Amino acid sequence: METKQFTMQSIKDKWTKRPLIISGPCSAESEEQVIQTAVQLAETGVVDIFRAGIWKPRTRPGTFEGVGIRGLPWLQKARKISGLPVTVEVASAKQVEDALQFEVDVLWIGARSAVNPLSVQDIANALKGTDVPVLIKNPLNPDIELWMGAVERIVKAGVENIGLVHRGFSTFGNTEYRNAPMWHMAIEMKRRNPHLMMICDPSHICGRRDILQELSQKAIDLDFDGLMIESHIDPDKALSDAKQQITPQQLKKLIDSIKWRHESTTENSFNLALEKLREQINQIDDELMQLLSQRMKIADKIGEYKSDNNITILQPGRWNEILEKAGIKGKLLGLSEEFIMKYFDAVHIESINHQNKVMNS
Ligand code: PEP
Ligand code: MN
Repeated sequence: METKQFTMQSIKDKWTKRPLIISGPCSAESEEQVIQTAVQLAETGVVDIFRAGIWKPRTRPGTFEGVGIRGLPWLQKARKISGLPVTVEVASAKQVEDALQFEVDVLWIGARSAVNPLSVQDIANALKGTDVPVLIKNPLNPDIELWMGAVERIVKAGVENIGLVHRGFSTFGNTEYRNAPMWHMAIEMKRRNPHLMMICDPSHICGRRDILQELSQKAIDLDFDGLMIESHIDPDKALSDAKQQITPQQLKKLIDSIKWRHESTTENSFNLALEKLREQINQIDDELMQLLSQRMKIADKIGEYKSDNNITILQPGRWNEILEKAGIKGKLLGLSEEFIMKYFDAVHIESINHQNKVMNS
């Protein structure tokens, strides 16, 4: 079967019914594993692009670092046999050149490269004059400017087909996720780049199989354009990321279980109801802003008193008292503790800034 030329936009246009699905093993391990996985994925009928890592930028040395360039002919063969376009991760100019020589259809820049402008620039230099689509994962740390910078470097190299991949962010300590999703970062990146496709990588966010479905549904509910999910013919024996991989058959089940959403509808009654509710929200937001402004005016007054009496702005006792009361009240009102803490923190900082201005002017 011949693989057709395509662009990110053409894929996006093609899949009006459901988003783009990229799947395949974390790492190419052997020719047999690569080909079998690709064939089984193609048989599911739900996969658009086959992925496999051959150069693996692992956090610690001594773990499986990929088969390297000898994996490229395996991918080329898998592409021919399965009919699926293929994508690999590239981390240097040399890797871009090697991948393109072996007909790789789409390249992706991993989180460990996106974090380093020198690596991204090296990759960008090798991309000049090519028309290969490039997916750019978010950098390891939640720095949106770094992610934007990586996109700008690839755009400047003349690449027109660019997609973004949200794979979560490194955090300190154990959490529910391997990489914290911090959805607001992806949402802001989508807002800044409405013309770019945004794909979610639930595998690297979750780090484990049991919550992949739930996370994938969340991404679709947030209007993501696709999912990249790792799959392996024998996940438990995978040489990298074994805990998060699923079989091609499990992938099909997962994809079939997702409720696909649309960003909008022409259904009149729905649009009217939505409009009314949004009007109420706008009204409440307006009132909240008025109230916050009043609150800050009171903070200014307190600042004047504190200034006259040489009192510090911050009084930890008072701040603890506010947080404690807010936590209890918030719970009764159905607001999460996380939200209450973030909200009060923001209000408190704004108050401090106001008082700082009054006391030092
Ligand atoms: C991967 O996709 O296998 C990978 C290494 O991803 P990330 O760059 O998101 O860690
Ligand atoms: Mn992986």
